[in-house]
Amino acid sequence: MKRSLRGVTIKVCGLTDPDEALAAVKAGADAIGLVLHPTSPRAVMPAQARRVSDVVHAMSPSRVRVVAVVVDAEPRAARELAAQIGADAIQLCGDQQPEDWVGFPLPILRRIGVEPSAEAELLAWRPVAALMVLDHPSGPGGSGRPVDHAIASRLCQRAPCLLAGGLGPDDVAAAIARVRPRGVDASSKLEAEPGRKHLGRVTAFIGAARPALARAHGRFGAFGGCFAPETLVPILTELDAAWRQLREDSVFRAELDQLLGDFAGRPTPLWPARRLSEVLGCEVLLKREDLLHTGAHKLNNTLGQVLLAKRLGKRRILAETGAGQHGVATATACAQLGLECVVSMGAVDAARQRANVLRMQLLGARVEVVHAGQRTLKDAVNAAMRAWIADPLGSHYVLGSALGPHPFPSMVADLQQVIGEEARAQSLAAGGLPDLAVACVGGGSNAIGLFRGFLTDDVELVGVEAGGTGPEQGAEHAARFASGAPGILHGCHTFLLQDDDGQVLPTHSISAGLDYPAVGPEHAALRASGRARYTWATDEDALAGFDLLARREGILPALESSHALGWMLRARDELRGRRVVVNLSGRGDKDLDLLQDRHGELERLRERSGALP
Ligand SMILES: *Cc1c(COP(=O)(O)O)cnc(C)c1O
Repeated sequence: MKRSLRGVTIKVCGLTDPDEALAAVKAGADAIGLVLHPTSPRAVMPAQARRVSDVVHAMSPSRVRVVAVVVDAEPRAARELAAQIGADAIQLCGDQQPEDWVGFPLPILRRIGVEPSAEAELLAWRPVAALMVLDHPSGPGGSGRPVDHAIASRLCQRAPCLLAGGLGPDDVAAAIARVRPRGVDASSKLEAEPGRKHLGRVTAFIGAARPALARAHGRFGAFGGCFAPETLVPILTELDAAWRQLREDSVFRAELDQLLGDFAGRPTPLWPARRLSEVLGCEVLLKREDLLHTGAHKLNNTLGQVLLAKRLGKRRILAETGAGQHGVATATACAQLGLECVVSMGAVDAARQRANVLRMQLLGARVEVVHAGQRTLKDAVNAAMRAWIADPLGSHYVLGSALGPHPFPSMVADLQQVIGEEARAQSLAAGGLPDLAVACVGGGSNAIGLFRGFLTDDVELVGVEAGGTGPEQGAEHAARFASGAPGILHGCHTFLLQDDDGQVLPTHSISAGLDYPAVGPEHAALRASGRARYTWATDEDALAGFDLLARREGILPALESSHALGWMLRARDELRGRRVVVNLSGRGDKDLDLLQDRHGELERLRERSGALP
């Protein structure tokens, strides 16, 4: 039976004995390559190749593919050799011509030397080869020399490719991020000596390559992806490629850094909140995103995306907004950078948030009021998406959180990561890394921005969702991790609040910014791997957190950020004596109307928290 190469993303090549091959399979290789070219230092004789292939198939009858690597073999000889050793596929490295291989009974991998003229060869092979192996142009392969990343990246957009060329555990992740291949193929850098694999290096290589490949394709573990309507896929692909390139472009970086600095006010301070620390019994460091221009972290993202759109030659920016905060941040970036701005907003939201509607209009944006559906955020998202599909070349859709189809979750997190990078450096300068980093989680952008700064440190990461009236059954909340389940919403696979039929459930939170049925996929993955933990705070917890910060520190926090503080208040036994960085994602001026309505409640809470030490 012909076995396809569909699931093959990591190939370890040049194995010479059964034990090595088994170790590579155990470490997670999808394919192993047996070199049948007699002059290679990694050559195996057919009888030995058969032994290797038999043990691999015995151990992993369906997952792992055995690839016979040949240089100049013609179809008939290749077929016999493959049958003799029990190979699942053949890799051609020599001067073969694609037309001779039409109808070959096994899947074909074709080696392509990465040079400016390679595209024609790749296109000629595309109809007959299932996968291209991109290698250095010298010799028939296995040179161990790295390929030109810019050319390789272009080739990867034309056909499914495995990147080869001297990849090892240390450089594979960076190469994947630049080239974005379907998979990788490695040999010489995984060796202890020519022809003998170093098992530690094989394991390290696969351990580095697997998450990098997932990330490059918008996967965070089992979550993320790009579940978009067909009309949007080419737009998203273009956006992904553009972001990958611009993210590393020094001119773009300098322009964005200047905007973030002198226009927006970065770096934001890390404030040692001594009077708050006193009542909580732990050492609290507040990351002051509330001091950023427009009063929240959202501007980090909108400045980045609007600058990207401008570099791509777009004229018009589209966005949706619920409470209006993202709309204002987008309108601000557009006014600063000179792009037209259209913000969709549900009619119900527009009536509730008149001040933000006015702000957007004063900034020169057009607010498009949506009268369809429930006339709230979800309907505004649909309207903005439709506008984007109608004008993909002239417009860019600025998504407001680390959500949605790839590349948005990665791109937004990349843009918010500055929060965590600064907070890490600032906490080190102020005496050392924290024990915990805490942030509220709506779509998850301020939290992932903070967390990314500490991912590889021994720092506990805590995300706080909106517990509303309490996340038990029947209550109204937006605690996706407490009572949601995996599903797909707005282009991405993640945790959602849904009923047994998969219908999205209505949500509630005192803070509009946390009131959303889905959470960003990177958080779903961080939770699944155990790297971060997610909890919730109720509306009442948030009010208590707000009150505490206002009176103890002279800072009115946004009700979103107040959830992180409210959780800390509740968890203070656990936090005692520890050092905690909290992301103060925004300021509370926008919440004054609501606070006025709930003033009585605030008074009662104050009586209660008056009992605090
Ligand atoms: C929008 C908003 C949030 C929630 O969005 P995330 O993407 O989860 O960060 C949190 N805090 C403030 C102040 C906001 O405006």
